[in-house]
Amino acid sequence: MAEIRDVVSESCLLTSESALREHGHDETEDLLYLPEAVALPGSTAEVSALMKICYRERIPVTVRGGGSGLAGGALPVKGGLVISMKRFDRILHIDERNFQVSTQPGVVTETLQNTLKEMGLFYPPDPSSRGWSFIGGNVSTNAGGPKAVKYGVVKDHVLNLEVVLPNGEIIWTGSNTLKNSTGYNLTQLLVGSEGTLGVVTQIVLKLQPYPTHNLLMLVPFHSAESACAAVAAIFQSGVTPSGLEFMERNAIDWAVRYVGETPVPIREEDAAHLLIEVDGFHIDSLYADCETITTVLERYDCGEIFLPTMKPRKPRCGNCAATLARP
Ligand SMILES: Cc1cc2nc3c(=O)[nH]c(=O)nc-3n(C[C@H](O)[C@H](O)[C@H](O)COP(=O)(O)OP(=O)(O)OC[C@H]3O[C@@H](n4cnc5c(N)ncnc54)[C@H](O)[C@@H]3O)c2cc1C
Repeated sequence: MAEIRDVVSESCLLTSESALREHGHDETEDLLYLPEAVALPGSTAEVSALMKICYRERIPVTVRGGGSGLAGGALPVKGGLVISMKRFDRILHIDERNFQVSTQPGVVTETLQNTLKEMGLFYPPDPSSRGWSFIGGNVSTNAGGPKAVKYGVVKDHVLNLEVVLPNGEIIWTGSNTLKNSTGYNLTQLLVGSEGTLGVVTQIVLKLQPYPTHNLLMLVPFHSAESACAAVAAIFQSGVTPSGLEFMERNAIDWAVRYVGETPVPIREEDAAHLLIEVDGFHIDSLYADCETITTVLERYDCGEIFLPTMKPRKPRCGNCAATLARP
């Protein structure tokens, strides 16, 4: 403990009951495993020094990001030391010309996305926990969200990682280029490894221009099976939505109970909803995509389609809204 305190300083080594409890659980059920101490390093060199001590003394180490994980990865099941990445909270460099960002792992995902958006840059992976999960946690769990259908998950956007290995050695796993086919693909080995192979201390992500337009469609279905069948048919029509979420009746009911009221009517006969988003740079082609999707949906027993960015449509056929009016 004295050695660890020397590395991170007194104020960044937590041993109080409340701190241990706070770092003894994540969002996985009601599980609690108390570590013996929590260290908050502030640099790669400090992480390396901590890992060297723990490696030598065979002290179990658990890395922790935002603690939003649902797979128990941040639970210190063997006690020992929790390394919290909370202080690694700086976006280091945004390279607009090469569409890349270099960031520390403790930056909250949404903060990173919003900062990039202000510069017209887009980092697509959007886990629902983006308001409090860290980008390092996202990398370590290979997180994804509704936009995965078009843009993929975290693994599709990571170029390079700085990692402290269990013995304290510091490595870079790849290179900051789009094409890098030499040697082992250590970057992808590290992505999704849930802190079992090392501590990620710096991340280089590739970016793209932020789409200037998007359109959302909310579609009720009379059966969950029809909703699922419609998904495949949308892709077969040649349109790739930028977001696609399926919600069955139970989930809709729980959501309604939670939020109180909904901006769209939910009818007795609605068994499921699909939330469909298209995005891009040309609004006319997005309307054309929505027309195509609507034509597909008509074949799958859907109810009235809502386009929240526009007024609800009047049904063209018996039970389905099909005429797209511009706002
Ligand atoms: C309400 C809610 C909604 C969610 N929605 C989604 C979703 O839409 N999509 C999705 O994929 N997940 C979702 N999740 C799960 C969770 O948010 C993600 O797995 C997220 O990526 C975890 O990030 P975190 O920073 O909270 O990591 P933590 O929970 O702190 O850690 C997760 C794992 O990553 C490791 N780790 C963290 N930082 C590092 C690092 N720097 N180096 C090495 N290892 C590290 C930890 O050891 C652990 O194994 C959701 C969770 C909740 C509670």
